Amino acid sequence: MAAKPDKITAHVLACGAMHCDLTWLLLQPGRAITSRANPAKPAEWTDCPTHAVLVDHPEARILWDTSCPRDWEDRWGPTGLQDFFPYDGVSDDEYLDARLLQLGLAPGDIDIVIMSHLHFDHAGNVRAFADAGARLICNDKEYAHATGFSGPFAGAHLKADYEGLTFETVSGDTVILPGVTVLETPGHTPGTMSLQLDLADTGTMIFTSDAVYMKDSYGPPAVGAAIVWNNQEWLSSVEKIRNIAQRTDATLVFGHDPDQIRQLRIAPDGAYS
Ligand SMILES: [Zn+2]
Repeated sequence: MAAKPDKITAHVLACGAMHCDLTWLLLQPGRAITSRANPAKPAEWTDCPTHAVLVDHPEARILWDTSCPRDWEDRWGPTGLQDFFPYDGVSDDEYLDARLLQLGLAPGDIDIVIMSHLHFDHAGNVRAFADAGARLICNDKEYAHATGFSGPFAGAHLKADYEGLTFETVSGDTVILPGVTVLETPGHTPGTMSLQLDLADTGTMIFTSDAVYMKDSYGPPAVGAAIVWNNQEWLSSVEKIRNIAQRTDATLVFGHDPDQIRQLRIAPDGAYS
């Protein structure tokens, strides 16, 4: 990969999938909740793909999120959530380190890591990049929440992922570099962010992370999930994304959409510029 690209290129790093009950992601009464007409309806066990994005920018090499760790079964053990979101739909060439290596990159080649939020399926590998010297950026409300509880974990915030690391925090919508903007889209967690890239050929792309799990969450109307930290903020954030997407004619990439991930250009074979 050339050291000094002349335009922004986004490489989607598809890192395989967790599996989970679809209700975690999509709380539709007619689908997820049993009724007297169908009291024994089984839960739907679904693919919950995870991805990161390598942004090759003329001024820096940026990584958006860090997916799940190879040692998920042990690392997530204290939370009990490894049984609800097993990261068992991943092959050896799909782990984040393997995906980067396919682009010729190691953690030391990344200048900036931007975290959408600090849940364990996004922050699973952030420590490796910090250790290799990358700057870490997250939202100030996310950092306060993720470090502000006692004990080793709260929900899917697991201190083992990020404790002791130094983050630069941002507040509100913030331009990180020309063409690279983080959008404050809270609700899933107190400081969830989305990533807006303004690309020369593709136009605007918005990577929503968990602000919008999947196309069926986006609607319209927006459909909530079994775990949302604040429903009102979540809904406002979805509509904020919708407004920006309409204004910029953006391509949206959702956080955990099992159908969409198969339709994207995936690294190392394809990219967006
Ligand atoms: Zn999350």
